[in-house]
Amino acid sequence: MTAQIINGKELSQKKREEMKIEVETLRKQGITPGLAVIIVGTDPASQTYVRGKQRACEEIGIQSLLIEMKESTTEAQLIAKIDELNKEDSIDGILVQLPLPSQINEQAIIEKISPNKDVDGFHPINIGRMMTGQDCFLPCTPHGIIEMVKSKQIDIEGKHVVVVGRSNIVGKPVGQLFLNEHATVTYCHSRTNDLKAYTSQADILIAAAGKQHLIQGEYVKRGATVIDVGIHRLENGKLTGDVNFDEVKEKAAYITPVPGGVGPMTITMLLHNTIQSAKRFRA
Ligand code: NDP
Repeated sequence: MTAQIINGKELSQKKREEMKIEVETLRKQGITPGLAVIIVGTDPASQTYVRGKQRACEEIGIQSLLIEMKESTTEAQLIAKIDELNKEDSIDGILVQLPLPSQINEQAIIEKISPNKDVDGFHPINIGRMMTGQDCFLPCTPHGIIEMVKSKQIDIEGKHVVVVGRSNIVGKPVGQLFLNEHATVTYCHSRTNDLKAYTSQADILIAAAGKQHLIQGEYVKRGATVIDVGIHRLENGKLTGDVNFDEVKEKAAYITPVPGGVGPMTITMLLHNTIQSAKRFRA
């Protein structure tokens, strides 16, 4: 068996074409969706991610405002900036690029962003709403993963989803979203004994450990769907994931590639949340 590729780049393009039309309609009503992106310091990876988000906004007609703050920025200064943006009517979404310098408490910052502008879906109010199945901004990477699985009409209900990773931004929420879709969910993490015993039972396996090629062919059940969230840069400059793609594609029924899988979908769902915010609070 050679797995079918779930192409996140293509799915993103399709969704972004639809979003372009939605934004055009909003603009005709005098509403230009606006996203503010705050970056603190000069971390090169963060700068690349921020540029990618800005470019994606511009492509579909969302106004993006980049706010660059110095590495030495204090928590109070960052909070003051967020307060300003919370009050600014032309801004529908506020994103603070993580990680932040060590003098700033990330959780304190996340909680300062208005839940109505929290397009990353990290605010405890949005997380609570997601857990209780209410309308909210869903976190972008987990939402993108669900959309990818659904795009191939893969059954979720009653299936066993195994999530490797339990971070607040990927692992925990992605498991919750699959639970909301009536899957049976198992979480694995760095303290899990015998990881393979769990992953090899998965109908849908989500690899979000941040460990290059942790998931080998023998970790995967034949016919499974394998979603690779990991991003690792190799010495030759190329990107790879948490999954040994060449091995696993011979066993899985569906697989996401790196690059061109979950990454583009994450940005697409950020655009989606920004448009939803403009519609919800301004249209
Ligand atoms: P974190 O480092 O915050 O979390 C990693 C999780 O994996 C932790 O829960 C950790 O367990 C678990 N883990 C680590 N090693 C193992 C192991 N050997 N076996 C089982 N579990 C393990 O990472 P993130 O969730 O932020 O990101 C994960 C990966 O996804 C990274 O490569 C990141 O770059 C990528 N990423 C990609 C995105 C995209 O858009 N494609 C978006 C966000 C992240 P424990 O809790 O016990 O420490």
